[in-house]
Amino acid sequence: MLEIFEKHESEVRGYCRSFPTVFTRSEGSELFDRQGRRYIDFFAGAGALNYGHNHPKLKRALIEYIQRDGITHSLDMATVAKEQLLKKFNEIILEPRGLNYKIQFPGPTGTNAVESALKLARKVTGRHNVICFNNGFHGMTLGSLAVTGNMFKRQGAGVPLSHTTAMPFDGQFGDKVDTLDYLENHLLNSSSGVDLPAAIILETVQAEGGINVASKEWLQRLAHIAKKHEILLVVDDIQVGCGRTGRFFSFEEAGIKPDIVCLSKSISGYGMPMALVLFKPELDVWAPGEHNGTFRGFNFGFITAAQALEFWRDDTITKGVEERSKMVRERMEKIASEHPELKGEVRGRGLIMGLCSTTDKELAGKVSAQAFERGLIVETAGSDDEVLKVLCPLNISTSLLKQGLDILEESYRAALSKVAKRELAHA
Ligand SMILES: *Cc1c(COP(=O)(O)O)cnc(C)c1O
Repeated sequence: MLEIFEKHESEVRGYCRSFPTVFTRSEGSELFDRQGRRYIDFFAGAGALNYGHNHPKLKRALIEYIQRDGITHSLDMATVAKEQLLKKFNEIILEPRGLNYKIQFPGPTGTNAVESALKLARKVTGRHNVICFNNGFHGMTLGSLAVTGNMFKRQGAGVPLSHTTAMPFDGQFGDKVDTLDYLENHLLNSSSGVDLPAAIILETVQAEGGINVASKEWLQRLAHIAKKHEILLVVDDIQVGCGRTGRFFSFEEAGIKPDIVCLSKSISGYGMPMALVLFKPELDVWAPGEHNGTFRGFNFGFITAAQALEFWRDDTITKGVEERSKMVRERMEKIASEHPELKGEVRGRGLIMGLCSTTDKELAGKVSAQAFERGLIVETAGSDDEVLKVLCPLNISTSLLKQGLDILEESYRAALSKVAKRELAHA
């Protein structure tokens, strides 16, 4: 079925191995393949499709723009599409939140936003080191890889990844240890062996790294430490921004104001490649063209992004995420309690939720495979892919969400009965 891909496409391909079919069409929270099979989407383009596939309002705006011969490609020349986006982003997102940021358009991928943020922080401070966190994920280019934890991905670099110091994330040593005591000690102790960093970069919920949630208090203290030591705080909101945790930015609940924020994935709202870097105006020390990129002016992305911002004029999305998050959490807790042998841990915030079996690291992958056979697309996360990760579109209908959760529950039963059968056979 995937012969053409196996023959011609590089071995580097990944997701088509977990979800081995050829997709033809998608709508809302559903995908369809060449055999006409339907799949419920609990993956949402790894967080690039927060408003689902082919949202009709975004599609209409895009088609109209294309039909009137709107500019497609413009590098960073001024266009009406970009003007409208800048205006709306300020009016709908930044101003109501009391945030004042300059906006940079880097190349259209998340990793390009991270590279820009790192470059800018180093340029502003004149320091080379950057503090990052164990299990963090920030992208595949060299600068981003240097602040990424995963050894397999890091090894792909083929060169030393340096000028960074990795620290433990919130909760890594259990409830009783505040990992920020450890971090701050490195800044306070003049013999710590860690150079004063330009920046501290983090995800408020480590997504690829296994759905590790930083608490509000931890984020507040981290922001305080950064400020005290004049270190720039960079929040990579590429996966958990744009409403994934309920509010537009994942750090809003903590009430912190990062110095630099990276956005990508769902910022265009339509799966169009697009990224933004936001930073406090006093940090805008770039020289014209010092960071650039051929596709940083992809106007189709600006059109759908501006349209998607309209969803944020009220709290419909935030309320919807709360309701759905509760449904997912309750179901995961039910699964965990039905299978106590898994010592299941439910993690997450908003609509990034994970179920991790602390006794069977391979289970999540088996459940994902069982789910696919039953018409549900759901991925894994964590350093050993040990966490089953639910990342559905934020506006999935509650009935479809329930169907998906039913399939998930069934997939756990099926995966576990297979495990049990195999163990019996070995006995
Ligand atoms: C996906 C992701 C990136 C990288 O984005 P790309 O578009 O794949 O380069 C960076 N940071 C986080 C948190 C991500 O989830």
